[in-house]
Amino acid sequence: MSLTIKVLVGVFLGILLGLFINLSGLNSQDGWINTYIVDGLFFVIGKMFVNGLKMLVVPLVFFSLICGVCGIGNLSTLGRVGGKSFLLYMMTTAIAIAVAISLAVSVGLGEGMEFEEATSFTAKETPPLSEVIINIVPSNPIQAMANGDMLPLIFFSILVGISMLMLGEKSTPFVKGAEIANEIMMKMVTIVMAIAPYAVFALIAKSVAELGLELLIQLAAYVAVLVSALLIHLLFTLMIVLKLFSGLSPMIFLRKIRSAQVFAFSTASSNATIPVTLRTVTKRLGVDNAVASFTVPFGATINMDGTAIMQGVATVFIANIYGLELGVMGYLTVILMSVLASVGTAGVPGVGLIMLSMVFTQVGLPVEGIGLILGVDRLMDMIRTAVNVSGDAVVSSIVAKSEGSLDRGVYDDSMAGVEDAESLVIKNV
Ligand code: ASP
Repeated sequence: MSLTIKVLVGVFLGILLGLFINLSGLNSQDGWINTYIVDGLFFVIGKMFVNGLKMLVVPLVFFSLICGVCGIGNLSTLGRVGGKSFLLYMMTTAIAIAVAISLAVSVGLGEGMEFEEATSFTAKETPPLSEVIINIVPSNPIQAMANGDMLPLIFFSILVGISMLMLGEKSTPFVKGAEIANEIMMKMVTIVMAIAPYAVFALIAKSVAELGLELLIQLAAYVAVLVSALLIHLLFTLMIVLKLFSGLSPMIFLRKIRSAQVFAFSTASSNATIPVTLRTVTKRLGVDNAVASFTVPFGATINMDGTAIMQGVATVFIANIYGLELGVMGYLTVILMSVLASVGTAGVPGVGLIMLSMVFTQVGLPVEGIGLILGVDRLMDMIRTAVNVSGDAVVSSIVAKSEGSLDRGVYDDSMAGVEDAESLVIKNV
């Protein structure tokens, strides 16, 4: 069995077991199943795996960006790649939320619904935009790395790469070293991925076991509109954008991006998925590492189409429940705020809710309203993160294609990059 199939089997079995534990009431708070299996074994395995992925993010981004900048070879190309990906990321996010709001408004989501008092939700402090911009330049790069702050890390790594380019010959040994380090990190991704099927099983079983099914039913309308908007974005908007801007086949793309989506779904974190996205985009879709090393971590940080969609749907839902009228200006503000917020916040689990509280404050919706959708947010987070990561891969492919940095042979070859992680590890030991 290939690794992807094994992971998908893990997802499926995880859902089955999680549902069984949830529906049979075995997950009661003080029961042994909850203590030792769900919060014990599943939690430990899942967390170790996510840690394993996160462990690779900072060194992988650092070395692959250095290689990327040196591979791109000159500053004007670098600027072009940066500019194109930024514009495409912003454009797709804006379209995503506009479509989501239109869909939610047209079905009148939340109108006439009554809810008992919302569970309280207190928003975390969000940094002001000026601070976000200032912090792109790290006063201490090691600290930025230690905290896993992506934008300052990207900034620092690009600067190292640019300086190496400017030094020319002299830096050749360091360039070679960075290339080897990058390969080592990629090999480590393969090793960590070997345990993915079991870890994904544990992560999914835990999430599903804990998900209150009654909540899901109570919020069925919200969930249905949100999932439809996410699917429309993934299957139509993004695929039309891909075809229009690059001429690449959406069918092949959708087939190949599956593994990255599964990891995004199980970890609910675009950041933790960077190693897998990078691997998928370069090895399966044929994007040159020089471009991917830049567009993937950049996208994981600033591009959140799925999260923006959730914000659009949630805004309409809660405004209607509270009987508040936002009007066209209100919705335009929501679109602008969501796009801006996605730039300043990192792709980690649950960050969408923080962004949502920012949006609500701006348009004058009650922040406690977020309490209403809290119960299903973990599941929604998993789904929207898969969409976020797909958006990163779409933009990476478009930018690479436009720069002549996409290997069409690899893209069209359905077997390219399908390696069984285990056989790879064993073969090379
Ligand atoms: N978990 C999402 C991500 O990492 C962000 C969010 O929607 O909360 O992309």
